[in-house]
Amino acid sequence: MRIITRVGEMLAENITASKKRTLIPTMGNLHEGHISLIEQAKTLDTEIIVSIFVNPAQFSEGEDLDTYPRTLDADIQKLKTVGIDILFTPQPHELYPFGMENFSYVHTPSLDRTLCSLSRPAFFKGVATIVTKLLNITRPHYAIFGDKDFQQLAVIRRMCLELFIPTTILSSPTIREKSGLALSSRNSYLSKSEHLIAPKLYEVLTQAKQDIERSPGRANDRQYLNSLEEHAKLALTEYGFKIDYFSIVSIESLLELPANQLVIAAAAYLGPTRLIDNIQLKLSEKLLTLNILKK
Ligand code: AMP
Repeated sequence: MRIITRVGEMLAENITASKKRTLIPTMGNLHEGHISLIEQAKTLDTEIIVSIFVNPAQFSEGEDLDTYPRTLDADIQKLKTVGIDILFTPQPHELYPFGMENFSYVHTPSLDRTLCSLSRPAFFKGVATIVTKLLNITRPHYAIFGDKDFQQLAVIRRMCLELFIPTTILSSPTIREKSGLALSSRNSYLSKSEHLIAPKLYEVLTQAKQDIERSPGRANDRQYLNSLEEHAKLALTEYGFKIDYFSIVSIESLLELPANQLVIAAAAYLGPTRLIDNIQLKLSEKLLTLNILKK
């Protein structure tokens, strides 16, 4: 495994690269969720590049940029064990050579109006910008992102389509603890007692999914979905979460119904820790036909 820290060196690599590449962007503090993306990359017969970069542009004032867990030595050991070709881990001045004020950015406004965007208005601009930079620097044939951050995935897919970025974006399923809690670097912020409550987020998402599956004729009924959302918020609040959002929306637009694929998405705080999770739900052909006939 080669470790590259300079943009110039990574760009020079492109000239001599003989194989297609897959990029897996991360912020480090690697866990089994990240490793699963690498395992997926291994099925593609490409060179694998993992980037580790805690991107200042996607953190707002008062968020956890300074305290975000940085564990580069342990990450390097994990990457050596799993086996990748290149670790790209630049310093901020390499990726933002003109500083963090007034830098050029990429924005995907169509998908940046709901869900996480409401409480983190700068977040997806930061993500779209850094992913564009990483794609430009590493020129991969494929890039892999986790379903766990499904709005991020939607933004990146849309951005690549709109900007004609020639990378195929692949997704990978969410890896969870046995308890159901989605693995996340931010889980390390949870106290012991919070860690015991945290799996309830997935439990409540699962409950909403089961409710929709039990009443498939109402899966595109906004009023019914609103009532499920309210019920879920109440349950989470009782467990001790502070709700950011709990929303059932079209997976494509992140907004309007009808949709043939829904996502049940939630963000909630336990103490200072913000957890996000989601479940995707494909509606059956039969149900879709019913919905079309009703119109
Ligand atoms: P992060 O380091 O948190 O920015 O995540 C880097 C990539 O790993 C993103 O594409 C995430 O969606 C993905 N990821 C994070 N947690 C998980 C998980 N539990 N399962 C699968 N992928 C994940």
